[in-house]
Amino acid sequence: MPHANHPSADPLGKRLQASLPCARADRLAPTAQLPLAGRLALATRLAGAAALTAVALAGTCLFAGPAHAAPPADAASLAQAPGYYRQVIGSLRVTALFDGVVPLGRNLIVGMTPKQIDAQLFQRYVPETPAGMQTAVNAYLVEHDGRLTLVDAGTAKCFGDALGHVVENLRLAGFKPEQVDDILVTHAHPDHLCGVLDDKGAIAFPNATLWLPRADDAFVRDPEAEKHAPEAFKGIFGLARKVIEPWQTAGKLKLFGAGDALPAGVSLVASPGHTPGHSSYLFDGGKDAKLLVWGDVVHYHAVQFATPEASFEVDADRARAIDSRRKLMATATREGWWVAGAHLPFPGLGHVRGENKNYAWVPAEYSPLPAGK
Ligand SMILES: [Zn+2]
Repeated sequence: MPHANHPSADPLGKRLQASLPCARADRLAPTAQLPLAGRLALATRLAGAAALTAVALAGTCLFAGPAHAAPPADAASLAQAPGYYRQVIGSLRVTALFDGVVPLGRNLIVGMTPKQIDAQLFQRYVPETPAGMQTAVNAYLVEHDGRLTLVDAGTAKCFGDALGHVVENLRLAGFKPEQVDDILVTHAHPDHLCGVLDDKGAIAFPNATLWLPRADDAFVRDPEAEKHAPEAFKGIFGLARKVIEPWQTAGKLKLFGAGDALPAGVSLVASPGHTPGHSSYLFDGGKDAKLLVWGDVVHYHAVQFATPEASFEVDADRARAIDSRRKLMATATREGWWVAGAHLPFPGLGHVRGENKNYAWVPAEYSPLPAGK
């Protein structure tokens, strides 16, 4: 989804930023899930409904020590919980990282009439403003085969200050950017690629290799493709080239296509259409434990599972995007794979199931981590 420099002001992003001094004081161990149960148990011992509400909403502040223990005086300073979530899938340890949200308009859904779209969205309760429906931007950090692989890197500052929280949430989850071995980018759009650089334009993950689909690298360097792109999206091409350049100069860029080796334990699942080289990645966590990180196969979760033929205006080749969506949904359903989606509601982890000859999304349930994981 390439709405670079979107002018929308995002109050959630501002609240996350406002929460940082408090959240950083609460350094959770990398293997710890947020202790929600303990939080609620303590909350019930506090007197009054107001105290319960304040503790539940204050989240991490409860653990930040006596100086932060009092409920915030100003409701506007209440913060959301930190933007990461852990899931163990066989031998894989997955951490979903929240970058922020962007609004996507109903008018960018192609292949359905407004009446059909309205009917599809009826009672789906998707948060929506005049700018569009709330759409998450997620990245995924996967510990596998002794390596740390990041799939997509978020927006950095390409979409403004309301997003760009991947590195911040990676740190809150107990990791450091220098620990990341590989970055697999699903495609060369700014909401997936910009985060590989820091605010100063330098490489944000100093010890990582950047893996980019060769077809997307060629696409953003194709003057004809740039010339024929919709006016609003022409800027994506130059932006992508600029983000790739420092990695190329440093000799840390690896272009790949079908048949080329990826990091150990990861297989390429080609899913072209949104871009020519759009790539999904299958992580093998052992028997009955596979994770498909599918990038931009779905932008409108409330529409495209039930109607996979609905396209996103920006899809470079809509017919191929529909074909990829149908194939991945069918395979994930048949195989029972875990799925992670860059624009599914955070944490964007779950399963796909069949429904009415099409599909439905089954989000992961907040879960304690298995002992020893
Ligand atoms: Zn996207």
